[in-house]
Amino acid sequence: MSQQNPVFIPGPTNVPDRLRRVMDMQTLDHRAPDFADTFQPVLAGVKRVLKADSAEVMLFPASGTGGWEAAISNTLSPGDKVLVARYGMFSHRWIDLCQRHGLDVQVIDVEWGDGAPIEQYAEALKADTRHEIKAVLICHNETATGVVSDIAGLRKALDDAGHPALLFVDGVSSIASMDFRFDEWGVDVAIAGSQKGFMLYTGMAILAVSQKALKAAETARLPRTFLDFGDMLTANAKGSFPYTPPQQLIFGLGESIKMLEEEGLDNVFARHHRIAEGVRRAVKAWGLQICAKRPELYSDSVTAIHVPEGFDATALINHAYGAYGVSYGVGLGEVAGKVFRIGHLGSMTDVMALTGISTIEMAMHELGYPIQLGAGTAAAQAYYSETRGDVRAMAA
Ligand SMILES: *Cc1c(COP(=O)(O)O)cnc(C)c1O
Repeated sequence: MSQQNPVFIPGPTNVPDRLRRVMDMQTLDHRAPDFADTFQPVLAGVKRVLKADSAEVMLFPASGTGGWEAAISNTLSPGDKVLVARYGMFSHRWIDLCQRHGLDVQVIDVEWGDGAPIEQYAEALKADTRHEIKAVLICHNETATGVVSDIAGLRKALDDAGHPALLFVDGVSSIASMDFRFDEWGVDVAIAGSQKGFMLYTGMAILAVSQKALKAAETARLPRTFLDFGDMLTANAKGSFPYTPPQQLIFGLGESIKMLEEEGLDNVFARHHRIAEGVRRAVKAWGLQICAKRPELYSDSVTAIHVPEGFDATALINHAYGAYGVSYGVGLGEVAGKVFRIGHLGSMTDVMALTGISTIEMAMHELGYPIQLGAGTAAAQAYYSETRGDVRAMAA
């Protein structure tokens, strides 16, 4: 029965029944002349969600990691310099991927719990007068620490320095849950995954790529085949794919975009903010600390929470899973054992969030945490109750 419980991991996320039904479909011939009718409107929908009118959208059978690899391998050559900050496990893994591709990776290390250091990026860009840095990488929402970063600020740093580097953004745990403005922020490659804000099964990397990045792809020499932008665009233009497309996920994505647009993107973002704020109120009522250092860094899709000294966050989430069949995010890398995470993105309601808050609260109580049973749940209840029906007003 516990399979009926929602998950509170920050991806893969809960899949709404409406999307599960759409993805439960018979095989279609992807070489049939009308296959284009099924996926071309989906590409247009992705552009609307990412506010990426000027971009080309590509769908690769992969997870988010494959999206990172596509961005790098299509646009850069061996030995190219990239600038990137590390402030959590996901920024770390993208750095690792760049290093394994033989890139010259200039890393800015930042304490985990902090966000992308825009000033340090700006200094490095200004110092690079010979424009050796070919791409600047940033993780919009660091899922390991629940920290959101300022992409517009990084765009400004690039512009202020008059620097021509490409801007690559990992938006895997922000896109479709938090506002993302591809065109306005001058992003060159944005990466999303089917299994987070789009509420689908895992298996598709969703990319938006600028004309400037496509131009760079013409001369980039890193090897790629499966993830080649050129092959994908050539095939897509003819209404097909370079290989067998993940058609169930493409159908699911079309329906997911319909759901997001029926709710209204601004309402989707406001819902995430409001649910996240309820979680943060609960954390405060428990007397625990949020991993993100300052309110402007708080993520609306995941909250990482420090456990008190002497407690093991991994044991806590294992207990919640064993006792109640409810999953939370484990602490990763530097914060392993020190934080647990409540994922609250995608298909998430007040009711679901309250389940997650009250269940982890019981688990903490049973393990002797110095919290008062019910305090966090009550704080979230009070907030959800006070702000009920205000979602539209908040978005306006
Ligand atoms: C989930 C996630 C990824 C991608 O991970 P996959 O497991 O490859 O889908 C990348 N970046 C961030 C910030 C993520 O949250």
